[in-house]
Amino acid sequence: MRASFAVLKSIFGAGKAEFCDLAAERLASGKRTLIVTVNPEIIMNAERDPQCEELLRAPDVVSVPDGIAVVRAARKFGKQVKERITGVDLAQFFLEDADRNGYSVALYGARPEVLQALCERIAAEWPGARVVAAYDGYNHEDDAVMDEIAALEPDIVLVALGVPRQEKLLFSHFPKFSKGLLMGVGGSFDVLSGLKKRAPAWIRRANLEWLYRILREPSRLPRFFRSNLPFVRLVRRERRRLRGRR
Ligand code: UDP
Repeated sequence: MRASFAVLKSIFGAGKAEFCDLAAERLASGKRTLIVTVNPEIIMNAERDPQCEELLRAPDVVSVPDGIAVVRAARKFGKQVKERITGVDLAQFFLEDADRNGYSVALYGARPEVLQALCERIAAEWPGARVVAAYDGYNHEDDAVMDEIAALEPDIVLVALGVPRQEKLLFSHFPKFSKGLLMGVGGSFDVLSGLKKRAPAWIRRANLEWLYRILREPSRLPRFFRSNLPFVRLVRRERRRLRGRR
C-alpha cells in the first residue's frame, strides 16, 4: 500500500464515543497524546511532503477519521471504521471534559475576534476549563508560541491554523511535552466561538457536511479540487493496483 495510505489501516475505527472514552482516560492519566484528525487534505499533503507522511506513520500519533471520504477509503482497504470523528466534535468534548475535571487548556489560532469569542464562551459554558494560554493565529510566531505553551504544561492544547501547518507544528514540538493532549482543529474555533454556523444535524447525518461548507464558502472549492477529488481518484487507482497484484 502506498505510504501516505498506511494511516488508513491504523486509524481509530471504533467510533466517537469510544474515542472520547480513550481520550478522557489518557487525559486523566496524564499520558502525552497527539491526535491527528485525518482528512483527504492531510493525506494528499503526505503524498508530496515527507514530514506529513512521517507524522501520519509516527507510532505515538493517534489518528481519527475526519470526513466521510476517509471513512470510505479505510473501509475499502479492509479497515472497519464505524463513523467519522470530527475535530470540532472532539474539541468540544475536550472542553467539556476540562470543565468537569478542571483541566488547563491552551489555544492557538484563528482570528483575534474569534479567539476572544471562544474564550468568552468557554468562561460562560465550561467555566471549569482553565484557559492558561490563548494566542490568535495572525500575530504570533508559531515556534515561539509552542515553546511558551510547552513551558506551561497544559492538559489540553488545541491549535487552529489549518492543515497541514497545525499538524506539522504540533508534531515538531511534541517531544517538548511530557503530558497533555494535543490536537490540530482546523476551523473549529470559528464554530465553537459561535461566529460560524455548523451544518445542521441532518446534513451531518447524511454525510454532506463537506458540501454544506463548500456551498456556504465557495472559496473552499479550490481546496476540494486540490485534495478531495485527487484523493478519491488515488484510492480508486490504489485499489486497482492492489487487486492486480493478487
Ligand atoms: N488561520 C490562522 N492563521 C493563519 C491562517 C489560518 O489562525 O495564518 C486559522 C483560520 O482563521 C481558521 C483556521 O486557521 O480558523 C483554518 O480553518 P479552515 O476552516 O480552513 O480549516 P478546516 O476546518 O477546513 O481544516
